[in-house]
Amino acid sequence: MRRDRQGFDYPVANPDICIGCGKCESVCPVINPAEPVKPLASYAMKVQENLSGSSSGGVFPYIAGKVLDEGGVVFGAVLNDDMTVGHAEAETVAEVEPMRGSKYVQSDLYSVFEDVKMYLSQGRKVLFTGTPCQIAGLKSYLGKGSEDLLTVEVACHGVPSPGLWAKYVEALGRKHKGTITSVTFKDKSRSWMHYNFVVENASGRFAVPYVDDPYMALFVQDMILRPSCHECPARFGRSGSDIILADMWTVGKVAEELDDDKGTSLVIANTAKGMSAVDGLDKREVPFDAATEGNGGFAVSAEIPQRRDEFFAGYLSAKDLIAYMKGFVVRRPLHVRVYRKVRHILSTIKRRITG
Ligand SMILES: Cc1cc2nc3c(=O)[nH]c(=O)nc-3n(C[C@H](O)[C@H](O)[C@H](O)COP(=O)(O)OP(=O)(O)OC[C@H]3O[C@@H](n4cnc5c(N)ncnc54)[C@H](O)[C@@H]3O)c2cc1C
Ligand code: SF4
Ligand code: SF4
Repeated sequence: MRRDRQGFDYPVANPDICIGCGKCESVCPVINPAEPVKPLASYAMKVQENLSGSSSGGVFPYIAGKVLDEGGVVFGAVLNDDMTVGHAEAETVAEVEPMRGSKYVQSDLYSVFEDVKMYLSQGRKVLFTGTPCQIAGLKSYLGKGSEDLLTVEVACHGVPSPGLWAKYVEALGRKHKGTITSVTFKDKSRSWMHYNFVVENASGRFAVPYVDDPYMALFVQDMILRPSCHECPARFGRSGSDIILADMWTVGKVAEELDDDKGTSLVIANTAKGMSAVDGLDKREVPFDAATEGNGGFAVSAEIPQRRDEFFAGYLSAKDLIAYMKGFVVRRPLHVRVYRKVRHILSTIKRRITG
């Protein structure tokens, strides 16, 4: 892998040993995008006991627990001690714990595909969770399907640059006077819809609404995504996954009784295996179109923002990276911010009165 100036890693063939067989191109999901499958069913659901540690409705740990009970192995993304993000494996509930929570950075897969293959060859059940393109890549690598493999994709509108993330963590460490030791990208303790971005170090715990953190603001404004995310080959049911987990942002309209601002999952089953993965959970079937309305993870790929090239051309030499990033954040007009704040306060009051 070679990291480019934008901080993304790309595979590079070694010319000394490459025999030009073309196998890498024939399994590449970007070069060979699959046809979309029609979902079997869409559900709104939440697992009460998992809400606080999970980003959405806590369905992932439920599915992982089932696979562990059957003696299986779970693969998912964790935040490493050095604040990089990569995939890890788990054979116990304690090892699944750090996989919970969305990490808004492209996750390094290391040699995880080989490990999945090895466990499947031993007859073990495997749960692989990741972005749609990671699942498409895994399926392509394995070549043939396996009854023992369950794949769960997180809805995804794009992943930010790991190189930029590393620089940002260093800058946060300087700002907060101490190496950052913990990050929660989506802290729901205040609100799921208006969540906080939280970092910790020896000096304390620093929480800000995600819209006020320049990294998160640039992420949601699609400024710092991998170029392939602007022409995503794997979303819309093209990854071959059994199930899709998403935030059900339309819960207030589509399943009002679940709207407690603590997180509700939209669960889309693409296969019978995916349907049975959520057997045993209370679920409410919801219409796909209404449930996914306005959700970037299901929209057409985000357009490339006008200033993206300018941003990536200058971030490495910026003297004050945080100030530099803030300069690229597009603030919503004041009346929109006031409207959203008032709407949030009113819906909180309504929830308290009704339930
Ligand atoms: C980069 C990214 C973009 C997303 N964009 C959207 C979106 O546009 N719309 C939407 O509805 N939902 C999006 N999500 C998904 C959503 O935030 C939740 O992760 C999902 O609903 C699962 O919630 P949960 O409570 O069941 O899982 P949790 O218990 O919170 O578990 C988190 C799951 O996400 C996986 N994960 C975490 N970080 C990464 C990562 N960097 N790469 C690969 N897998 C990861 C873990 O392996 C685990 O399976 C995104 C998630 C990520 C990571
Ligand atoms: S798969 Fe074949 S073409 Fe691709 S890098 Fe390896 S040897 Fe070269
Ligand atoms: S938007 Fe598409 S290409 Fe980008 S990380 Fe998500 S699934 Fe992969």
